[in-house]
Amino acid sequence: MSVALVTGGSRGIGKVISLNLAKAGFDVAICYSGNEAAVLETVTECKEQGVQAISVKADVSNIDDVNAMFEEVKSSLGAVEVLVNNAGITKDGLLIRMSEADFDSVIDINLKGTFLCTKAAIKDMMKARHGRIINITSIVGVEGNPGQANYCASKAGIIGFTKSVAKEYGAKGITVNAVAPGFIQTAMTDKLPDNVKEAYLKQIPVGRFGQPEDIANVVEFLASEKAAYVTGQVVEVTGGM
Ligand code: NAP
Repeated sequence: MSVALVTGGSRGIGKVISLNLAKAGFDVAICYSGNEAAVLETVTECKEQGVQAISVKADVSNIDDVNAMFEEVKSSLGAVEVLVNNAGITKDGLLIRMSEADFDSVIDINLKGTFLCTKAAIKDMMKARHGRIINITSIVGVEGNPGQANYCASKAGIIGFTKSVAKEYGAKGITVNAVAPGFIQTAMTDKLPDNVKEAYLKQIPVGRFGQPEDIANVVEFLASEKAAYVTGQVVEVTGGM
């Protein structure tokens, strides 16, 4: 059975990505940072699909945590063939009020976390001459957004990282792509004020907010054999926003 590791898989978009991959037949390792109740629920729901599923607690911005996580997953399930770098945070604020700590923590978790997990995964993928790496960026990493200079910088960085690693490892059977969600209904967007949500909705041609399934379906395709000739791409899943 092939093994998929989803960072930030306990809830939100990562939870539905984990469930979809379990439904597609992958054994799933679900990385979370602290919300144990949520991750246990996700593990149970993945197991109901008839595959193996485990939770692994790790801060993706910490190299020791990341290396220990990959060792644990390898000994419990086997080497990771599909890595979904989904863990992410926001710490919004206008530049003039943004602290160094808020800039650093967003870059560390979103961008450095993607680097650390990809680096930890790549050796086994090279050995297997097969791998799928899917990085969750954001449409604001392409377009920019006021109040999110740290977040947009981290997500733009993920795009450059994705395109570079795709060029380095394409010949080894490893594809590396990014998915750029628009406005998806999760805890991350629930905390936005109603007037901000209404303004976003007006900019979405399909006339509704995105759901985690909208992202998970594209991730499932990119993880599959059908996507073998797709690499270095940024797939925008925004309802046309
Ligand atoms: P969410 O509901 O806030 O969930 C965040 C997930 O990341 C949780 O599983 C959390 O684990 C995990 N996490 C946070 N910090 C971590 C760390 N240091 N190490 C490991 N895991 C960590 O977020 P979401 O809305 O599903 O977003 C998922 C991804 O999509 C993020 O990369 C986000 O930037 C991106 N995205 C979201 C939207 C949107 O509209 N929602 C739009 C564009 C892009 P715990 O449960 O343990 O806290």
